[in-house]
Amino acid sequence: MRVYIKEKDGKVELLNAVTHEVIAEFSDVSEAVKYALENNYQLPLRAVDGEFVTDKKGNPVYIDDKGILELADGTLLEGCRICPRCGWIAYWQEVLDEDKEPRECYVCPHCGYIFECTPEPEDIGAGD
Ligand SMILES: [Zn+2]
Repeated sequence: MRVYIKEKDGKVELLNAVTHEVIAEFSDVSEAVKYALENNYQLPLRAVDGEFVTDKKGNPVYIDDKGILELADGTLLEGCRICPRCGWIAYWQEVLDEDKEPRECYVCPHCGYIFECTPEPEDIGAGD
């Protein structure tokens, strides 16, 4: 079962990610995480800083054992990758490079990192 953790009124709630029912209440996040692990609940993806990752709308994001990114209801997050810098979700989108040429890249809205652009810049790394 997929769950997520929400802080509310100084308490920490563990909720069913599909029905949004409260499963249990805790006084801190680490207790909620421990409870979830003990019960084999699946917690959302965690970023480099330990924060739980959400999509742009605030929905918790889950990763399966094949590395596929999904929302709680199984909706695939297509065109998304995990940002190698901060661990949040980066989205495939068109950006303009320094020469105002359009390129397709993964863009992380959380930290602003842009990576794996297509087409690859041809001359980078060749100089010296
Ligand atoms: Zn990032």
